[in-house]
Amino acid sequence: MKLLIKSKNILLTLASIALLSSTNVLAKNFEPVIVIHGGTSGLGLTEEEFIKREKVMKESLKAGQNILEKGGSSVDAVIAAIKVMENSPEFNAGKGAVFTSDGFNELDASLMDGKSLNAGAIAMARTIKNPIEAAKIVMDKTPHTLIAGEGADKLAKNNGLEIVNQKYFYTDHRYKQLQDAKKSKKVLLDSDKAKAHLGISTEPYLGTVGAIALDKNGNLAAGTSTGGTTNKMTGRIGDSPIIGAGNYANNDSVAVSCTGTGDIYIRVAAAHEVASLYKYKKLSVQKAAEETIKEVAELGGTGGIISIDKNGKVGYAWTKDKLGMYHGEARIGKEPKIFWPVDKK
Ligand code: ASP
Repeated sequence: MKLLIKSKNILLTLASIALLSSTNVLAKNFEPVIVIHGGTSGLGLTEEEFIKREKVMKESLKAGQNILEKGGSSVDAVIAAIKVMENSPEFNAGKGAVFTSDGFNELDASLMDGKSLNAGAIAMARTIKNPIEAAKIVMDKTPHTLIAGEGADKLAKNNGLEIVNQKYFYTDHRYKQLQDAKKSKKVLLDSDKAKAHLGISTEPYLGTVGAIALDKNGNLAAGTSTGGTTNKMTGRIGDSPIIGAGNYANNDSVAVSCTGTGDIYIRVAAAHEVASLYKYKKLSVQKAAEETIKEVAELGGTGGIISIDKNGKVGYAWTKDKLGMYHGEARIGKEPKIFWPVDKK
């Protein structure tokens, strides 16, 4: 009898532990972290060029870090970090977006919340100052996941986002880059060495931007924003606004943002591939990013990936043809760190 009561008690204890962990009452302490990228590159930067870009990336990390420090959500941290880079002409997102073959700037962006698995994205937008904010509106206020073209511009306007005209996105260096691309009859990644093989452009370019974060509640989020590729066909949509291709977050595994040959990242379902390799093949987040990059390279693609797993471990990978990926990381109470493809001279 005594033995029966004892085993009943053990069973009850086991059942309550199972219930507690399934409802996440056994709260774990997560160390918040935000990671960003500013594209991959085949170009070396001078000291001066380096400092200019590093400053914006640090500001971006600090914007995300501030939110995480105050206990804010990973979704809000990702948006804040991306907005800083979208407002800078140094990156291929928002203000510094590249040109289509017809001379337009068409913006793509996406956002995913790893807790709810809700996501929102916009593509081919021409008037939205901060595309990442429009992705949030698609996620929160519509029954859809991806809205393209005029519909995205209208949605942003109707929801009070800042609207600009195409002139806002004009920068000399991007326009020159379009001329280079037209001369070489190529669709160029911003990391392509236009200046080396054409001898025309003098400025090195930074690329697509992405941010991923883990907040104190263990929630992951991912965001990506881009102008796409220089000389792309008008109406072309890359991987950045495609959930599972250029962007993905799931609390059960990882948050991922990609940069590179979008037309190939889509075919690899790259961001989701990192999650799958982590979840099913039990690879570390670093290995999962590396394996996915190999798959991208095998199909002729080039670029990079940033990822964070549900425990706050980070993974960075890029294809070998590039000098590397401009990226940075910030943890609570620590100075944000920026990593550059080439050593500071
Ligand atoms: N992935 C982007 C696209 O293909 C470009 C980039 O990341 O540089 O649109």
